[in-house]
Amino acid sequence: MSFFGRAARDLFNGSPASTSSKLLLLLTVSSGGLVAYSDSRSQPDEVPASIVNKNDGQKKKVVVLGTGWAGTSFLKDLDASMYDVQVVSPRNYFAFTPLLPSVTCGTVEARSIVEPVRNIIKKRDGEIQFWEADCLKIDAANNKIFCKANFDNNTVGSEEFSLEYDYLVVAVGAQVNTFNTPGVKENCHFLKDLEDAQRLRRTVIDCFEKAVLPDLTEEERRTNLHFVIVGGGPTGVEFAAELHDFLIEDLVNIYPTVKDLVKISVVQSGDHILNTFDERISSFAEQKFGRDGIEVQTGCRVVSVSDKEITMKMKPTGELCSIPHGLVLWSTGISTRPVVKDFMEQIGQGKRRILATNEWLRVKETENVYALGDCATIDQRKIMDDIVAIFEAADTDNSGTLTMEEFRAVVDDIIARYPQVETYLNNQHLGDLTDLLKDAMSEDKKEVDIEGFKKAIHLVDSQTTSLPATAQVAGQQGKYLAKCFNRKNQCKEHPEGPRRFAGPGGNRHFFTPFRYKHFGQFAPLGGEQAAAELPGDWVSMGHSTQWLWYSVYASKQVSWRTRMLVVSDWTRRFIFGRDSSRI
Ligand code: FAD
Ligand code: MG
Repeated sequence: MSFFGRAARDLFNGSPASTSSKLLLLLTVSSGGLVAYSDSRSQPDEVPASIVNKNDGQKKKVVVLGTGWAGTSFLKDLDASMYDVQVVSPRNYFAFTPLLPSVTCGTVEARSIVEPVRNIIKKRDGEIQFWEADCLKIDAANNKIFCKANFDNNTVGSEEFSLEYDYLVVAVGAQVNTFNTPGVKENCHFLKDLEDAQRLRRTVIDCFEKAVLPDLTEEERRTNLHFVIVGGGPTGVEFAAELHDFLIEDLVNIYPTVKDLVKISVVQSGDHILNTFDERISSFAEQKFGRDGIEVQTGCRVVSVSDKEITMKMKPTGELCSIPHGLVLWSTGISTRPVVKDFMEQIGQGKRRILATNEWLRVKETENVYALGDCATIDQRKIMDDIVAIFEAADTDNSGTLTMEEFRAVVDDIIARYPQVETYLNNQHLGDLTDLLKDAMSEDKKEVDIEGFKKAIHLVDSQTTSLPATAQVAGQQGKYLAKCFNRKNQCKEHPEGPRRFAGPGGNRHFFTPFRYKHFGQFAPLGGEQAAAELPGDWVSMGHSTQWLWYSVYASKQVSWRTRMLVVSDWTRRFIFGRDSSRI
């Protein structure tokens, strides 16, 4: 449960003046005359010159898919007076996903954590077109997308339409990953969006109401009250903690006859829960769950789920065991949405697991499609792939060797272009990149040849990591991309990125590559206790961290309206407890 970077914090809360100054004047959609996009590949990393230059008086059409963290943060910062912007999303609201687990037990209400998209775009200076629909297909060759609205009432008129784009921003997020485990789709709950959270809340109450019916055996009551959470990541752990709080603070009083029959189990295939967190947090959580009576089963892989039972394989012994359940929450990770998978096939990324972009968030093998947030990953270029080009660029006197002075002249560009370098220097506690070269320098001449250079640098790429699928990353990426779009013409004239070591194009990249800043993460553990990993390797756990969590999450709310609603929900819960009505 991370908390958010500045990008996310600022998402909608800018002062009215600054907010309005940033917002868009949008052209109407069907002004026609879309200029055909030419297939130039002259600018490999950023926006192709063909698009930047085709200024025929018409604004370029930007189509944004998705209104989650990435899409909304992009829209918030985009200077819409420069573009004709259309947004497509099947949900006409932005949901503050970190509070979804709180919705499952009624700690906060669903409507308190959403902001209608139309409220968000209405606050802008200009007009943004919003279409409530799913994008079903991206036609990359023709710069077109095909959409279908999804209303379940009998309104009239066609629900299908297509849109053309000059630039497409794909921010559709990801879907749950069932790993094709039999029965999961049919019999498990998920916690990915607001509808899931509302469904979970109803089912939890159903389980209790069912368990207290008159003619059930004790075994049947126990089964109905066995809540199984598959996946010991932040979402699964937070749901387990919420459910436990709900039980001991509210339900024991409402359903006293069955209170001792309730069981919460967390099934985790790895050795520990919260294994992406610091070890101290992970063991603190395990100990706390142990005290609370939440059973944590590690080293178990779920092989199937039926409506009555969940079957698991014990990793060490290979033994199969089945346990009855009343509710299963499946929370084991994410996978690519079909629309993105299909797009990947079209552009030759079919063999990849997740859509790849370059460091400027442009989808590889395309010229005008960008992808951000959970639906994509940055394919970080390896420094060793460009090592010869870097050496040649640095060796200004063409001596075949580098002196420290020659190297110093390119160090900043290297650090800006290859983020893994900075991670490596930090991990090795090296002051700067030249420290790496010192050992490789010949004693007498203080120079290094290409082989020595390769040897000095070759470990750096081992630090290449992919960014986590979090709101923090998605929000920062949206903000970054909006800035690039706003400054496209300016940066084409005066490129501000690092030197272009390899590939075609001018001397410099237009923009500096996207760089993620991590601001830490939280894990609420129930009983008014939380754990947090804070910047600078700080770890904080306990009651005071829970208060920090309250203040951070209140401050990160997307508007004053939702902030008030969330804080009043928390207050209501403190005073009156949670509402157990099944509505
Ligand atoms: P999303 O926010 O999922 O948005 C995707 C958008 O695309 C949605 O509007 C969706 O309706 C739309 N869409 C889907 N399909 C289509 C389509 N075919 N066409 C058009 N639009 C489409 N991260 C943190 O940093 N901190 C946390 O504490 C945290 N807690 C979390 C708790 C839970 C329960 C969950 C599920 C996630 C949590 N995350 C957290 C992760 C965070 O929510 C995601 O990383 C983030 O939402 C990713 O943003 P996104 O914009 O890529 O995708
Ligand atoms: Mg030289």
